[in-house]
Amino acid sequence: MTAVHTAPTGEAANSAEPIIRARNVSVEFKLNRKSTVQAVSGVSIDVTPRSSVGLIGESGSGKSTLARALLGLVPVSSGTVEWEGQDISRLTAAQMRRFRTTAQMVFQDPHSSLDPRRRILTSIIEPLTVLGIGSKSERQERAEQMLSLVGLRMDQAMRFPHQLSGGQKQRACIARALIVEPKILVCDESVAALDVALQAEILNLLSDLRDKLDLALVFISHDLSVVAHISDRMHVMYLGETVEEGTTEQITASPQHEYTTTLLASQLTVDGQQRERADKAAQTAQEARS
Ligand code: ADP
Ligand code: MG
Repeated sequence: MTAVHTAPTGEAANSAEPIIRARNVSVEFKLNRKSTVQAVSGVSIDVTPRSSVGLIGESGSGKSTLARALLGLVPVSSGTVEWEGQDISRLTAAQMRRFRTTAQMVFQDPHSSLDPRRRILTSIIEPLTVLGIGSKSERQERAEQMLSLVGLRMDQAMRFPHQLSGGQKQRACIARALIVEPKILVCDESVAALDVALQAEILNLLSDLRDKLDLALVFISHDLSVVAHISDRMHVMYLGETVEEGTTEQITASPQHEYTTTLLASQLTVDGQQRERADKAAQTAQEARS
């Protein structure tokens, strides 16, 4: 078992071979004998080492389903997902176990991701236990490394989930995802349940971890400012399709698709309203003081 590795950063991520390469992926859900839902339609996406790719789109646009298809958690109805050049639908059981450690997910609600009856430390170690990785003392040692990476103390890890704050619980979920040393971390609305200050804290932690651990991030959010904060590239999803793809600068500076323009405009309105409210609150506080 290897220790947590750090890697030089700044290498041209885009020129590297993708870890995951998805081509024309569609995912269809059967609702009953007659009707189906087309959740994802013909999406192509690469996840390259050390890159961070954002999936942005409104609720129901197929972001989570696409992410699950990339990890082989839901079968594609057409198209292919390749990992290191191999179609993931054809992996042997042993290869699938290795693929599982390559990519890990962090979800929106840290509370429901952690077992309420188990100490945080047990939940963090669990993926190693399930996959049979390391001896007991090696698992403990790896967990300690993870705690320090995500900024949690051992006494906090000895508590139960309800005894930690939302931000601390999300840190624990990140530690749990990282303990198998993945190459890709998929964050599905991972800061949506947190307030704005905590969102920034967790986003900064994730980008630090990406640099320290040589990670690729797939970052999913309905909130364009959140995705733009952390992503080099973005896919804008609408009704299961990628309607626009490019670098974050390209997309925010000159959106090509009407839907992206709408997303950007609504973001500006929201930011404007937040600013207005913050200004008003500051003014009220000032008046109260004088
Ligand atoms: P997003 O993450 O962007 O909100 P989802 O990928 O969750 O979107 O959903 C895309 C579409 O697929 C939605 O219409 C949703 O209702 C449908 N869907 C997602 N999962 C399932 C499922 N397991 N069974 C049936 N329909 C589903
Ligand atoms: Mg979703």
